[in-house]
Amino acid sequence: MEQRILLGPGPSMVPEEVYQAMQRPVVGYLDPELFEVLTSIQKRLRLVFQTQNEVALALPGTGMSGMEAALGNLIEPGDSVIIAVHGFFGARMVEIARRYGANCKVVQQTWGQPIDSEMVEAALKETPNPRLVAIVHAETSIGIAQPIQDIARLAHDYGALVVVDCVTSLGGLPVHGDRVDVVYSAMQKCIGGPPGLAPITVSPRAWERIQTRRSPNLSWYLDLRLLWDYWNEPHIYHHTASPTLLYAMDAALRLIEEEGLENRYRRHLETAQALWQGLGELGFRFMIDEPNRLPMLTSIEAPVNEAELRQRLLRNCNIEIGGGLGEWKGKVWRIGLMGRSCTRENVDLLLGALTEMR
Ligand code: PLP
Repeated sequence: MEQRILLGPGPSMVPEEVYQAMQRPVVGYLDPELFEVLTSIQKRLRLVFQTQNEVALALPGTGMSGMEAALGNLIEPGDSVIIAVHGFFGARMVEIARRYGANCKVVQQTWGQPIDSEMVEAALKETPNPRLVAIVHAETSIGIAQPIQDIARLAHDYGALVVVDCVTSLGGLPVHGDRVDVVYSAMQKCIGGPPGLAPITVSPRAWERIQTRRSPNLSWYLDLRLLWDYWNEPHIYHHTASPTLLYAMDAALRLIEEEGLENRYRRHLETAQALWQGLGELGFRFMIDEPNRLPMLTSIEAPVNEAELRQRLLRNCNIEIGGGLGEWKGKVWRIGLMGRSCTRENVDLLLGALTEMR
């Protein structure tokens, strides 16, 4: 099958070096060579998360596994939590937190607008003993880069931990992992691997909270304490880890290290700027103003026959782009420039195809 040009909300195109790494033979989950791969991933994850946190590992599963682990490990039934929602994935956080027994205070922003720190502060004032504030850094459903720093500072002032979803931003935008408490992501977007692992990092403060829970985590599979004891000494069996996916993650992270984080951020921004210019010239309307726009995910108003045109792009031009989600289903197109997919060549291919279709 021909390699698709993947310009949707993820997965992104997997680099050849990563596919090659995945051909290494499968070994047992307690093989010392696999432990070396785990150590290498942890070291490289700290770099990409921009953190000194000791706790950094990759969970089995996709981004949703990261979301569930972040919330489930911190929440105990009856805890008060604040969740800022401005798109589809923030709403999922609320659903998960409620399933873990949290009393959720939802800070709801209109889709397409960033969340103001004042809105979060008002919620913090109204919530006694807030356990955590959770927020999505890169809302893939709308394409906003949400500022986190002020919100994180306020949350800490009120004694709350900060959970940030960086599923779409990690590896493409700075995430400042040291200024928040739990950050999770996925392998298949700006990290540039196949779907199947979810990187996560936990601050010492949040780790302490996890260690001193009054009740066990409701999810056994995503219990970070058990996973930590597999990833590190004493390497106690937890589940049959996938060496193939771990090789992929190690190789993808190695490529990021070789490119350099700053270069990688610049490549995502400059490639996106070329896309924005071309889309503007073709007369498309952007859903998000440029200062708040995500480089790796651009949402534009879709033509009326959007699903049919997207199918034509896929069938005739071999290019995948995304449609809308939730409230914006049928109304927008979402164009992703993530990881290896993020090249000027792909931008030109897409703009050329769109020009022909108009
Ligand atoms: N959070 C955000 C912001 C996402 O964009 C996604 C997926 O697109 C997820 C969570 C869920 O990730 P996954 O589909 O890998 O489980």
